[in-house]
Amino acid sequence: MTILKKIAFIGLGNMGGPMAINLHKAGHTVTGFDLSDDVCKRLSEEAGLRIAASAEDAVRGVDVVITMLPASRHVEALYLGSNGRPGLMSRLPAGTLVIDSSTIAAASARKVAEAAAQAQIACIDAPVSGGTGGAVAGTLTFMVGGSGQDLDRARPVLEKMGANIFHAGDAGAGQTAKICNNMLLGILMLGTSEALALGMANGLDPKVLSEIMRRSSGGNWALEKYNPVPGVMETAPASKGYAGGFGTDLMLKDLGLAQENATEVRAATPLGGLARSLYAAHSLAGNGGLDFSSVLGVVRPGVPTAS
Ligand code: NAD
Repeated sequence: MTILKKIAFIGLGNMGGPMAINLHKAGHTVTGFDLSDDVCKRLSEEAGLRIAASAEDAVRGVDVVITMLPASRHVEALYLGSNGRPGLMSRLPAGTLVIDSSTIAAASARKVAEAAAQAQIACIDAPVSGGTGGAVAGTLTFMVGGSGQDLDRARPVLEKMGANIFHAGDAGAGQTAKICNNMLLGILMLGTSEALALGMANGLDPKVLSEIMRRSSGGNWALEKYNPVPGVMETAPASKGYAGGFGTDLMLKDLGLAQENATEVRAATPLGGLARSLYAAHSLAGNGGLDFSSVLGVVRPGVPTAS
C-alpha cells in the first residue's frame, strides 16, 4: 500500500508537468509551482493541479520537495539562495525529503546535498532519462545519487513516475551517470542523422532505411523511439515540427557538463567534444528551442529548422 504524501513540485515544464500529474493521479497531495504563469494555468485547468503563488508557499507543510528545473544555477538559487534571498534549505524542517530530478553538474548536486545534510534534510539527486514520452507514461529511468536510506524513502514516490530506479552511488553520482548517458545520446543522434542523411542523399526511403538499421547492428534508441526524420515516426518530435521533446539547448547544456567534467577528471571524450560543437552551431543558427533531433538539419539541408 502506498502511503500518500504531501508533495511540492517545482518546475512544471515539459518533464515536470507530466511527472507532477502522475503523482497527483496516484493520490498524493501535490502542490506545484513554476515561474511561468502560462504553464501553471494550463496544468491547473487541464489536470486540476493545485498551484502555489511561490516556491516558498508550495513547500509549506509538505513531506517531499521535488524539483525539475533547467540547470545548475536554478537549482542552486532555489535551494541555497541568491541575491540575499534565503534558499529553501534554510526554510524546510528537518526530516523533509528533497528529490532533485533536474540535470545539473554533479558538483552542484553535492553542494545542495551538503546544505541538506547540515539542516538534517534527506536529499537525493535523481535525474531522469526517457524523454517527455516517458514522463507522461510514468516509465522514466531514475539515476540516483545519495544514501541508500534516503533512496528507500524516495522509492515509493519515484515508482509513480518511473519504471527503473538505479542507485548510482553517493551524492552527485546520479548526475554523473546522467551526463555519461546524455553524451552518448547526443553522439548517437548525430550519428543516426548522418547515416540517414547519407541514405536519403542516395535516394533511399528514410522509413525503409530506418527499419533496416533498426534491425541491424546500427540499431539504437533514436531509431527505436525518436527518429530524427519528419514523417518516419508519427510520435517523434520530428513529426511535430520538432516541438516539445528535449530542447537542443538542454542537450547542449548536458554536453557542456560532460566536457567540464571530463576536463576535471582528465578523461578523453573527443566525440562528446565534437558533438557539443555541432549542437552549439545548431543552436547559434536559431534552433536552440527545437527538439534536439532537429540536429539532423546540420547534415541534411532542407530539414525544416528555424534557420
Ligand atoms: P522546461 O524548460 O520545459 O521546464 C523547466 C521549467 O522550469 C520551466 O517551465 C521554467 O519556467 C521553470 N523554472 C525555471 N526556474 C524556476 C524556478 N526558480 N522556480 C520555478 N520554476 C522554474 O525543461 P524540461 O524539458 O522540463 O527539463 C527540465 C530538466 O529535466 C532539465 O534539467 C533537463 O535537462 C532535464 N531533462 C529533460 C528531458 C526532456 O526530454 N525534456 C529529459 C531528461 C531530463
